[in-house]
Amino acid sequence: MVKQGSDKNENVIYGEWHVRYKYSVGKVAGKFFDGLKQKKILATYCDKCKLSFLPPRAYCERSFEPCSGWIEAGLEGVIEAATIVTAEFENLPKPPYAIAYVRLDGVSTAMINFVRGLDLSDVKRAAERLKPGTRVRVEFKDSPEGRITDFHYVLPTP
Ligand SMILES: [Zn+2]
Repeated sequence: MVKQGSDKNENVIYGEWHVRYKYSVGKVAGKFFDGLKQKKILATYCDKCKLSFLPPRAYCERSFEPCSGWIEAGLEGVIEAATIVTAEFENLPKPPYAIAYVRLDGVSTAMINFVRGLDLSDVKRAAERLKPGTRVRVEFKDSPEGRITDFHYVLPTP
């Protein structure tokens, strides 16, 4: 539904989209999501380049050849980048929340997910604890369903 000119500013167009969809995850992401159900994080690797990828890719980003196989990523890793979100976005958790790109042990690339268990009452102070290079560990929920929200990162207890 689009309403025009219903604001003081006549140049605003209001819109709303509701889309139901099924997304075929395919072979590579399918195996990754199946791994999550067993509390395993599976990465693809390229034997030629000695690179491994998370999220898993079908093709090596350096040699452009099909990946050679799968490895199990470590359940600890290092923050490469992080932020604390303080603005509200539709369909995302109520702010503040922390997200980080973490390079898990044994993997060449970083994968984003939520960082939980961090006191966010003082955002600046919390951000200090999310510096690049900080080690974090993966924590799975009790009953994983094969979704990216099956796990999140946590900081070691201070
Ligand atoms: Zn390669």
